[in-house]
Amino acid sequence: MPIKKVMLLFLSLYLLLGIALTQAAGAAAGGVSASLKLAVEDSLSEISAVSSHNTYYVPLRSLSEALGWSLTGQKDGIQITGNSRSLLLPGNNGGAVLIDGTTVPLNTYLENGSLMIPLKLSVYLGYSVSYVPDKYLLRVWSGAAKLDDAAFADKYKAELKPETAPNPGTEDPVAKPGMTVYLTFDDGPSNTTTQLLDMLDKYQVKATFFMLGPHMRQYPAQVKRMGTEGFGLGLHGMTHVKHKFYASPAAALKEMTDANAILEQISGQSTTLIRPPYGSKPYFTQSFRDKLLGQGYHLWDWNVDSEDWKYKEDSATIYNSVMNQVHKLKAGKTDPVILMHDQKATLLVLPRIVEQLQKEGYSFGVIGAGMTPVNFWKDKR
Ligand SMILES: [Zn+2]
Repeated sequence: MPIKKVMLLFLSLYLLLGIALTQAAGAAAGGVSASLKLAVEDSLSEISAVSSHNTYYVPLRSLSEALGWSLTGQKDGIQITGNSRSLLLPGNNGGAVLIDGTTVPLNTYLENGSLMIPLKLSVYLGYSVSYVPDKYLLRVWSGAAKLDDAAFADKYKAELKPETAPNPGTEDPVAKPGMTVYLTFDDGPSNTTTQLLDMLDKYQVKATFFMLGPHMRQYPAQVKRMGTEGFGLGLHGMTHVKHKFYASPAAALKEMTDANAILEQISGQSTTLIRPPYGSKPYFTQSFRDKLLGQGYHLWDWNVDSEDWKYKEDSATIYNSVMNQVHKLKAGKTDPVILMHDQKATLLVLPRIVEQLQKEGYSFGVIGAGMTPVNFWKDKR
C-alpha cells in the first residue's frame, strides 16, 4: 500500500475509534455502564473492560490469552506479538512503540497487580474494535471473525447486559449512588496496621491506605498483606514535611516516585493513587498537579474528615462528626471518602463507625485507578 493510503487508513481508524470512545464515555456518564464484558472475535470472553477517562481498559494478560498474543519481557519494556505484528510497551506510561519506530501515546495503569491497557492498543496490531453502546457491545476482532456486530449482538443478547455484581476499584454503575463508603488511612503503615487489617477483615470491609515510603520500609509485611488481600494502595510521599514536599513540583514528584518504588519493591505492585501530605489544598497548585497528574497519577483528597488526629481517643466526638458528615453527603447522593489515620486511637472508634454504616446499608469500596478522583481542586485527571 502506498504510504499515503496507509496514513489515511490510520487516520480514519483513529477518528472512528475516537468517536466510539466518546460515545462510550457518554454511555458511562449516562449510567449505562462503566464496565462491559469484552467480546473477542466470535465469542464472549470473561474479560471485563473498564471505562475510565473516555477509554475502555482491559488487563493485558487476559487480552493476550484471549487473542493468542505472546508477551516477552525486554529490558526496555514488554514486547507484544500477535496477528503477525508486534509492538513494544515501555514502562512508566511511555506510550507504545510501533514496529516502524513511531511512539503513540497510551495510558496504562496497575489494578490489583495486573497491567491495564487501553483496548485500542489492539488496533496497532491490526485488529478492529467495535462499540455499540445500546447493545452493550464492545468487541475486538480480526479478519478471522465470521459474525458481524449486529449478528454478534443478537446471538449474545442475554449475556451482554452488564452484571449487577459490584466491581471493586471502579465506580459500580449499579450500586446506589452515595451508598459506597471509601475508608482511607493515612501516614501508615505503623505498629497498629496489623490490628487495623484484622479488624477490617473481621467486618469483611476493604479500605485504601495512603502510605509513607520510610514507614513501608519499616513495616514491609503489612504492606505485602494489604497487596495480597486486595486493599487499596496509595502514596503519601516520603518526608511528610511541608517545606520539603511542597518545595517544587519536581520535589513532590520525586517523593511520590520514591515511595512508589518502595511499594513496588515490597508488594510487587505500584500505584497511581496519591494523596499529598495535609491534603491538596492550598499547596498542591496547578503546577504541582500538571507535573504529577501529567505522569499518570490520580489525586485523592476526602469529603469526610474524621479529625482523628485532633480528637485522638475521644471516640464519641469522632463518631458523631463522621456520621454527621456522611449523612450530609447522602442527601447529595455522594459516596463518602473518609479520612482517618493509621494510628492506635483509630482502633477504638472504627468498629462503631463500620457497624453503623453497615446497618445503614452502605457497602465499602477500594479506591482504584479507574475511578474519577475526589479532590479539593475538582481535578478529574
Ligand atoms: Zn498525613
